[in-house]
Amino acid sequence: MSDERATQIATALAGVRERLDRAVAAAGRAAGEVQLLPVTKFFPASDVRILHDLGCREFGESREQEASAKVAELRDAGLADLRWHMIGRLQRNKARAVARWAFAVHSVDSDRLVDALAAGAVAALDAGERAEPLRVLLQVSLDGDPTRGGVPLADLPVLAERAAGADGLTLAGLMAVPPLGADPDAAFASLGAAHQDLMRVHPRARTLSAGMTGDLESAVRHGSTCVRVGTALLGSRPITSK
Ligand SMILES: *Cc1c(COP(=O)(O)O)cnc(C)c1O
Repeated sequence: MSDERATQIATALAGVRERLDRAVAAAGRAAGEVQLLPVTKFFPASDVRILHDLGCREFGESREQEASAKVAELRDAGLADLRWHMIGRLQRNKARAVARWAFAVHSVDSDRLVDALAAGAVAALDAGERAEPLRVLLQVSLDGDPTRGGVPLADLPVLAERAAGADGLTLAGLMAVPPLGADPDAAFASLGAAHQDLMRVHPRARTLSAGMTGDLESAVRHGSTCVRVGTALLGSRPITSK
């Protein structure tokens, strides 16, 4: 790994931490209430290692194959204290694989995916491949457009019951990405309200995964507890990236 890359990432990380601290203070919230989750999709394991050297332990990935390769590479290199978050769209046939390496899945949006992840998590627990239940966050669709993933707000309570009751899973909270072209403040406000409603029924579902490079301030104003930041830390990805 080059020193130049390490310096670049260290500078970017300090900048993002400062930006997040300012956003948290401006929202009148307590320091440390919002986790910074570096998103390392499309970037090599060597960048994860640099972030690890800088104190990061949890990382977001969005594609199963890429992630499982990176997880294995870093584990073989002796980094045992990492926690991986699956944040991208997930097909049911990848659920079993994801349940082996993921600490949490942020993109759960259907009964069928809940069931597949539960089966995968139970199998991984039985096989000793994981020690704790898999944390799941339900991804909410804020514009009701099912092609972009996410469960419509109206269907959230039923899906939450299913996730909360599933063996091998813990219902940890909600996640959303604002609709393209939408006002992020309005989108995050309705997400924040949905999260408050959810916590009345599921008080331990405390995580609200909201905010990325372009809109983290708005997400923090509306109760985010986890911002998923890629571009501001590692640079721009290929145009095909999701
Ligand atoms: C890629 C990705 C991010 C990171 O987005 P940036 O704009 O690069 O910070 C966050 N959340 C999800 C679901 C992603 O797929």
